[in-house]
This record gives sequence, C-alpha cells and structure tokens, in this order.
Amino acid sequence: MNTLVLASNNRGKLAEFQKLLAPLNIEVRAQADFAVPDCPEPYHTFVENALAKARHASRISGLPALADDSGICAPALGGAPGVLSARYGGEPKSDAANNAKLSAALAAMDDTAVYYVCVLVLVRHADDPTPLIAEGRWHGQWQAEASGSHGFGYDPHFYIPAFGQTAAELAPEVKNQYSHRAQAVAKLLAMLEAA
Ligand code: IMP
Repeated sequence: MNTLVLASNNRGKLAEFQKLLAPLNIEVRAQADFAVPDCPEPYHTFVENALAKARHASRISGLPALADDSGICAPALGGAPGVLSARYGGEPKSDAANNAKLSAALAAMDDTAVYYVCVLVLVRHADDPTPLIAEGRWHGQWQAEASGSHGFGYDPHFYIPAFGQTAAELAPEVKNQYSHRAQAVAKLLAMLEAA
C-alpha cells in the first residue's frame, strides 16, 4: 500500500497524518481529491462510525482508506456524550454549549471521571474483512471550572491528575504526546510496521 485516502475534510488532520505516515512511505490524500461526499455517521459506537467512513471513502476513491472518530465519555452518564460529542449541546455545534451541558449533567454526580476516545480504522479496500483498528483512551476528571487556553472542545474542563492540569493548560506538544489520538496513532503505526 503506497497511497491511502483520509476519510475527513479536516486539513489539520490531513497534514498530521501525512507527516506521521511519510516515514512508512505512505502518501495520504484528501478525500476531497476524489469527490467523496460526507458519509452518514448513524451508529452508537466510534468504531462503527469510523468503519463506515473508511469503507465509504475507499469505495468511492478505489484506494485504501483511513478514518478516525473521537469524542468524550462519562461513565456516570452511561458513556455520554460519546459519539454525539461534537453536537452534545445542540445545533449549531458549539464548544461552549457542549461544555455547559456536560458540566450541568456531571454536577449532580459523585463520579466525575471522563475519558477521551479516538478510534482509527484502516481498510485496504471497501469490503476488507479484516480492517486495522486502533483505539486510544485518555483518562481524566471533569473540572467544573474551565481553565487553560490551548487545545479545543472539552479541553478546558478535562483535568489530568498526573499533570495537575487540564488538557487546555498543557503545552500542545505535551498533549500531542499523551492524548487519545497520539495513543491510537502509535498503535496503528505499530500494526502497519508489523504488517
Ligand atoms: P471529531 O472526531 O474530530 O469529529 O471530534 C468529535 C468531537 O469530540 C469534537 O468536536 C470535540 O467536541 C470532541 N473531541 C475529540 N477530541 C478532542 C480533544 O482532543 N479535545 C477536546 N475535544 C475533543
């Protein structure tokens, strides 16, 4: 496999994966280059949604495809916001509304544990029966008061006891080393190197 298509319209993710996969001689192309339209993400799990996006991009482009899906889960809320993380606070999507809703939901709970999840799925072709699946989890505690200005999304409330800081207070290089995405990418690279 020399070229794969990234099932995302996020330019930042494209640049990140291009850099990560270049040492393995893998060229990463944008799905927009192949006129891949947005794919429905109707499922309740990250892995099902990532798999649907990867198969969709591969079917249309005729190339191997890589997709990711990520979000935040609170065990005390049965895993919510989960796959609804981007739009938890309603439409139009807004980090402030998402954070306000999760703060309100966890205010009544004794257990304020939360974790970020990132699932990466790589299919060699659209009907690949054995996709490569890598999952990373980053554990923290919900902090009612927002703190920090780095990162995005839920980061100002995502407190990591080992650092004594929220993800938004960590330097971006540190977040990029420990995050759910970093962990999933490291696992996928190990799978590709072993393949
Ligand atoms: P997507 O997988 O890029 O669509 O991300 C889904 C949603 O999960 C984002 O819109 C954020 O609300 C949340 N999320 C995923 N990763 C992070 C992160 O590293 N920090 C903060 N929020 C995140």
